[in-house]
Amino acid sequence: MKDKQIPYKIYIEENEMPHSWYNLRADMKNKPAPLLDPVTHKVMTAEDLSGVFCDELIRQELDDATAYYDIPEEIRSFYKMYRPSPLVRAYCLEERLGTPAKIYYKFEGNNTSGSHKLNSAIAQAYYAKQQGLKGVTTETGAGQWGTALSMACSYFGLDCKVYMVKCSYELKPHRREVMRTYGASVTPSPSTETEAGRRILAEHPGTGGSLGCAISEAVEKATSTEGYRYVLGSVLNQVMLHQSIIGLETKIALDKYDIKPDVIIGCAGGGSNLGGLIAPFMGEKIKGEADYRIIAVEPESCPSFTRGKYAYDYCDTGMICPLSKMYTLGSNFMPAATHAGGLRYHGMSSTLSQLYDDGLMEAVTVKQTDVFAAAEEFARVEGILPAPESSHAIKVALDIAKECRETGEEKTIVFGLTGTGYFDMMSYEKFHNGVMQDYRPSDEEIATALERLPHIE
Ligand SMILES: *Cc1c(COP(=O)(O)O)cnc(C)c1O
Repeated sequence: MKDKQIPYKIYIEENEMPHSWYNLRADMKNKPAPLLDPVTHKVMTAEDLSGVFCDELIRQELDDATAYYDIPEEIRSFYKMYRPSPLVRAYCLEERLGTPAKIYYKFEGNNTSGSHKLNSAIAQAYYAKQQGLKGVTTETGAGQWGTALSMACSYFGLDCKVYMVKCSYELKPHRREVMRTYGASVTPSPSTETEAGRRILAEHPGTGGSLGCAISEAVEKATSTEGYRYVLGSVLNQVMLHQSIIGLETKIALDKYDIKPDVIIGCAGGGSNLGGLIAPFMGEKIKGEADYRIIAVEPESCPSFTRGKYAYDYCDTGMICPLSKMYTLGSNFMPAATHAGGLRYHGMSSTLSQLYDDGLMEAVTVKQTDVFAAAEEFARVEGILPAPESSHAIKVALDIAKECRETGEEKTIVFGLTGTGYFDMMSYEKFHNGVMQDYRPSDEEIATALERLPHIE
């Protein structure tokens, strides 16, 4: 029997929304390794980073001691337009599966950008504005981050300059137009506007570009233009801090009904949604107050945790960004043209990397065709068309719920449903037409990319 007193959507009230973000690093016993200068290999100071990033964001980036950061009122009022996001009890899915498991998902797709990325975009734009900057630059691959950032910048009246990986720029004209609707300028990368872009174009004429190359262009533009800084939508500690709103709200909602999750699942690209979702739960786990099984799900085609190496690496192909110690496949690892655009990064958040190395969380990989099959299974009962990235988490949640059907266990599963997939219908089309391919990089391919890791004394 299902306990029907728990509603389908556990809403929390606006005035119950968290007033602070939670910085998980403050409670970690083994702190994530510091960022290093890519040339001298010295630990980066706030001063070293100040030409690239906004001052307050640098403070957040380097701070592993302060547990709570007040959310400024301006950011909270923006959050209130689309938050608190619902925590949904997937009764319909449970029934269809015939599982005794209790499944919950935290849905972050309920805003125009279609993903959780807006949670950090609005914070980053706010601090840039506070500092009196004119604008920010960034890169975008699949387009979610660029969209979120253009929304945030238009809200605070900042210029937003997006370098969009050229093949996505051409393949995803709708994403591009959403960004332009919000006033952003969108340039296909590589471009002739920057030194980095011109160099890559000379070496590889006709290239469709890559995320690493777009990062190099965006950083160059920011550091060479008065009043501009560079912002990034994942991987960094500051992003995970802002995304802790996801986990904090989830915890408030679960606590209302005394629900204790057994398993918490999230997809992992650079780690920001997963890090945000698990933050308060991991905090309890580290302090020995509770125990949870925490699972990161990554694509078979880009397996940073499961087949990467825990080492210092470059964050971009241009090797101009700080070095980060993380699980990495090597900065020149080229993931196959898989459709989970937002999960194609070669590295992983340094915080999650440390937690994984400490054995506090697990990681699994899933095949792309299995991910789309799970997406479809979910969409047909729960009424939300999920993003391919989010569907990695769905796949693992479904697998565990099906296991429970066999064992009779009533596990409580919580997963992050990071976004909607309306801009990904070309991938769905490939799946429906049976032409989607799975791809597993060979050991040699990974080993070759890892040969180029920097040598740190
Ligand atoms: C960007 C993105 C992700 C992956 O990024 P993380 O930083 O790992 O969270 C996941 N889902 C969606 C919908 C995204 O847009």
